[in-house]
Amino acid sequence: MTQSAPRTGDLFYKGPDLEILEAPEIDSRYESSVKGIHIIGDLSGIPLLKNAVNMGHDLVEKIGPALKETDLEDGEYHLLIVGGGGAGLAAALAAQELGLRYLLVEQKHPGNTINSFFKGKEIFAEPEALPNLSRLWVEHSYKEELLERWSATIEKENLNLVDCEQVTNIVRDGASFVVETAKRGYRARKVALAIGRSGNPRMLNVPGEELPKVHHVLVDPDAHTMEKIAVVGGGDASLEAALALAPHNEVTLIVRARTISRAQKANIERINQMVETGKVNLLTESKIIEVREHSLDVEVKGEGYTLANDRLFVMIGSDPPEEFLKGLKIRAEGDWNLKRVLSLVGLAFLVFLLYGWKKQGFWPFVAGGPLYAWTSWQPSMWFGILYSTVITGFGVKAILRYRRDPYQVKRYIWLILSQILLFWVIPEIIFQMVWPVQDGWRAYGLFFPAPLYVWNFWAPQGAHVFWFAWSILISIAGVPLMAKLTGKKYCAFVCSCGGLAETLGDGFRTLSPRGRRMRAWENLLTYTVTILVAMVIAFGLADKDSGWWKFQGLVIDFSLAGVVGLAAYPFWGNRIWCRFLCPLAKLLYIFAKDNSRVKITSGQHCIRCTLCSKYCQMGIQVMEFAKNGEEFSNRNSSCIQCGICITVCPVRNLQHGDWSEERWKEEIEQGPPVHVV
Ligand SMILES: Cc1cc2nc3c(=O)[nH]c(=O)nc-3n(C[C@H](O)[C@H](O)[C@H](O)COP(=O)(O)OP(=O)(O)OC[C@H]3O[C@@H](n4cnc5c(N)ncnc54)[C@H](O)[C@@H]3O)c2cc1C
Ligand code: SF4
Ligand code: SF4
Ligand code: SF4
Repeated sequence: MTQSAPRTGDLFYKGPDLEILEAPEIDSRYESSVKGIHIIGDLSGIPLLKNAVNMGHDLVEKIGPALKETDLEDGEYHLLIVGGGGAGLAAALAAQELGLRYLLVEQKHPGNTINSFFKGKEIFAEPEALPNLSRLWVEHSYKEELLERWSATIEKENLNLVDCEQVTNIVRDGASFVVETAKRGYRARKVALAIGRSGNPRMLNVPGEELPKVHHVLVDPDAHTMEKIAVVGGGDASLEAALALAPHNEVTLIVRARTISRAQKANIERINQMVETGKVNLLTESKIIEVREHSLDVEVKGEGYTLANDRLFVMIGSDPPEEFLKGLKIRAEGDWNLKRVLSLVGLAFLVFLLYGWKKQGFWPFVAGGPLYAWTSWQPSMWFGILYSTVITGFGVKAILRYRRDPYQVKRYIWLILSQILLFWVIPEIIFQMVWPVQDGWRAYGLFFPAPLYVWNFWAPQGAHVFWFAWSILISIAGVPLMAKLTGKKYCAFVCSCGGLAETLGDGFRTLSPRGRRMRAWENLLTYTVTILVAMVIAFGLADKDSGWWKFQGLVIDFSLAGVVGLAAYPFWGNRIWCRFLCPLAKLLYIFAKDNSRVKITSGQHCIRCTLCSKYCQMGIQVMEFAKNGEEFSNRNSSCIQCGICITVCPVRNLQHGDWSEERWKEEIEQGPPVHVV
């Protein structure tokens, strides 16, 4: 029984989805939408230990000096740090050094998350090239050594912390906050939330779950021998626990789904082997009804059974801390509020003005309208200048951001030059000023195939036949050939919508909607728009005054490509039009799917930090491939080869083309091109 992660979408899918990160909205001082509450470490959406300690240290460097000048009431703290992981401890060390009145409150013991890892778990201090700014020790080591060193630091520095107290709420009181635990309330001017993303273990909610034989983490597999053990869950944690326990115990793995699909392929294969050799008893479509002292009541495919049982590991994930943040009214990236709605309306209006100005087709730009005067300025020429300026400005910004990655530098230089040439110099200057030809504006369609650019099918008689024929040629022959040779690279290197998305939209790529249901929407909407555009061409070909052309101009070009596509960058990411609406996207995908050899490969070094998935503007769950060392291309994804997932990977686990371990060794020495923190 070999299983793999699901790839296809379902509009009405309600089950568990692939991992989707919801990061809180924070500014450069890590301050959340609730002023005075700062968010550091994993909770900020930036994974890895070294990033966490650097953020803890940096926070105090940034807000500490001003905070120190604040007058405090009796018993009040300058800074209350919630959570004693790497981020919280590094912040406490920095606060101590600066002489702040601070307190760290930890729900269990400092280093709780690391402590829950397996005995002997290796800790990677990635990215290697990133310096550790804090005084908290983080180096390549094993869990035990790291925790020992942290305990010694806490003792030596005599850090001001309380443990075994869970923070349950934070309430504003005048200029301060009251941080509430089950035992008391602490008053502080600022709060640093460093509670990680582990959250609290998810419960089965069945009778008997409180018995001492029930656990949520497996710390030391060697502590269990000759026991009858049940492990619940179909993810990596439960599979790894079952694999570690099986050699010396009688293990039953209980899974709710029909197949195991969410875990790494290697773990699934190893479990399959254990099941085949009788070392693990696998119960699928099963759930626990009641936990008893020496047994479990289990329902398997609708039928009830009783299993003898000494110990139960419930590893069905954790309730993410998002709920806690929502309770504190802290906004997540992409959440809606009045300011965002007004910004969207404002941006949409701006796009409306630009488009109306360019087209002169509707009020207030028609003759007699209040902005008619603007149209005498040759709007499309000015539009080209504006477009080229935006592409150049934001393109240079992106080059500076990704300057350590030669692929990105070359890509952005190419993008800037090609956009200026194809979408301003050729159609506006060469064909209308230097070498004017009839309807020179039709040269916009030189490298813009149908069904994305359909205007050369409008009134294609007489002298326009060349443009009409050219459009047919590049659409029917050019698109399949281009897709075969370069996959969907056109979207990341040539197309003007893609050009804007890569430059102006670069800062918004992490906002792209993800998940299985989104993929289903992508299919439904792009096919719908493609059919509509085909109807425009079919019905509008014979009649240049047909209402279908008005529909194309106002609905497809202006409303969808313009307003939704551009104005929505800060809300749904930079590729909304490309992913959900572009009629050419699906055609490119269809031709590239079975033909293109362009691919991205992954090695065996993934530390599952999720950054590649988070930064993929196309909403591809890159980590699902990377964690299994799999390759991906247009055969199994809509990748446009922008290469950003490769650029942000802290362990250089992704490469263009065939995987080369030699190349990896060279690259890892240089560190990642971009430290996303
Ligand atoms: C299986 C696994 C392996 C990993 N391996 C590596 C690796 O090799 N290298 C690497 O760099 N990173 C690794 N990571 C990631 C690393 O563990 C995290 O990036 C790091 O721990 C983040 O530190 P943090 O301080 O932000 O959060 P955490 O370490 O999670 O600390 C949060 C703390 O807050 C406490 N807390 C939570 N809620 C409350 C509350 N309400 N009140 C009080 N206290 C609270 C918790 O008990 C915990 O002690 C791994 C993660 C996992 C899950
Ligand atoms: S998806 Fe369509 S609009 Fe977007 S870059 Fe590709 S071809 Fe251009
Ligand atoms: S998978 Fe990587 S290369 Fe492909 S579109 Fe996403 S970020 Fe770009
Ligand atoms: S491949 Fe992706 S998940 Fe794995 S380490 Fe790199 S960025 Fe992180």
